[in-house]
Amino acid sequence: MKKESFYITTTLPYVNSVPHIGFGLEAVQSDAIARYQRLKGKDVLFLTGTDEHGTKVLRSAAQHSLTPLQFATQNSRVFKDLKKVLNISFDEFIRTTDKKKHYPGAIALWKRMMESGDIYKKVYRGLYCSGCEAFLSPKDLEQGHCPIHKKEPELIEEENYFFRLSSYTKQLKQKIQSRELHIVPAIREKEILSFIEQGLDDISFSRSREKLSWGIPVPGDETQTMYVWADALTNYISAIGYGRDKKTFEKWWPADVQVLGKDVLRFHAAIWPAMLLSAGLELPKKLFVHGFITAEGEKMSKSVGNVLYPDALVSAYGIDPLRYYLLREVSPFEDGDFSAHRFEERYNADLAHGLGNLYARVCGLLSKREAILPHDYHLMDLFIEQKIKTAREDLDEAMESFRFNSAVGVVWDLIGLGNTYIAEKKPWSLENPDIENTKTLFSLVILLQSIAVFLEPFLPDTAERIQKSIRIQKKGVSVVSQGVLFPKRD
Ligand SMILES: [Zn+2]
Repeated sequence: MKKESFYITTTLPYVNSVPHIGFGLEAVQSDAIARYQRLKGKDVLFLTGTDEHGTKVLRSAAQHSLTPLQFATQNSRVFKDLKKVLNISFDEFIRTTDKKKHYPGAIALWKRMMESGDIYKKVYRGLYCSGCEAFLSPKDLEQGHCPIHKKEPELIEEENYFFRLSSYTKQLKQKIQSRELHIVPAIREKEILSFIEQGLDDISFSRSREKLSWGIPVPGDETQTMYVWADALTNYISAIGYGRDKKTFEKWWPADVQVLGKDVLRFHAAIWPAMLLSAGLELPKKLFVHGFITAEGEKMSKSVGNVLYPDALVSAYGIDPLRYYLLREVSPFEDGDFSAHRFEERYNADLAHGLGNLYARVCGLLSKREAILPHDYHLMDLFIEQKIKTAREDLDEAMESFRFNSAVGVVWDLIGLGNTYIAEKKPWSLENPDIENTKTLFSLVILLQSIAVFLEPFLPDTAERIQKSIRIQKKGVSVVSQGVLFPKRD
């Protein structure tokens, strides 16, 4: 039977800096979704990558005496390394400088939008800083001056290509209201609808080659370079073959879910779907919009020096404990906080005490048993079996609505159940191999194995370790290895 496909993307972080924990959160959330869908038996494609064009990259490269491509490659690698750092199971990594994979898609989409009559030339007025060699937006300015060069930018007029975003106001509203494009959570759906209802303006889609040399040339007009929307947003379809591999593209598009932060909602819920509509392509089914992370209650900033980086946090706490915190403690929809104190509390209570104890007790009981524990489902306590079944349903509901904290909570309810069950049944006080003792132990083994399976999307290493610790064969159940899952932290 052909497997159902599932396509998920993260946003494309800009390569001018290295990833902080905010993007780490997005990567871990997306990874949990991807792993969960694989667990359900789907054929999953999980895409991430880097946005590598623009004047900022050009300037940073010059400062480092590198070519822009060298600089982009160096920083892009740090994002790609999140695969190891946070155990992110992405399948594809797209770079917007990739001439084989990305350019054909960006060019093909531009041409389609042009054919639809949605791209036209108009005078663009912008604030240009010659020191930065870039247009600045009013919000970049400090008291009307460029924050780097401390001088007033010039008002420049040049002819650029514009995209007729205004034509899509009504259609976008209808697609979002009907949930053909489903935006989660509802608060973000409301936010974008009220933005669209104010009416959309056409947006500039290119810059002169002179002012923006590091980017994709506009097809048919070498004097112009594609501006970021036309270039970077296209990655979601260029990576899966748009403009070069029709069959692969049709297998994956439309995306099942696109994960993004609340700061890029307008780009993903207005500009991007309008581009797709213009090209006659389907819209992604869902957008999941997460909040921001603060550090100890403060906004992270380089100047304050409180930016949290995934690799440093992993060195301090370990991959699975960090993933646990991000998924359980940080709200999926609102802003969350990383607090070292809260982390220690969560770690000791839930990981060392909760899961660690259950694992140690079940393995301990099993290893002390003289006769092998039979592998026989008649021994299963129906009460435990029912709890596992209910947990599977609750987990599914939570994951389909991106409530990662609830999903992880469902697994921890089972862990709590296991620990209570041991305390009540006291299997060690019974004569071995008493039938009651055997039933209790068998039910605990199945419970622990189910917990391990349910943990796969969230704590993949831990899940694997538990599953490998206990051998379940026809002839019986035995312990292969045991040890401390999460040592208590002081
Ligand atoms: Zn400047």
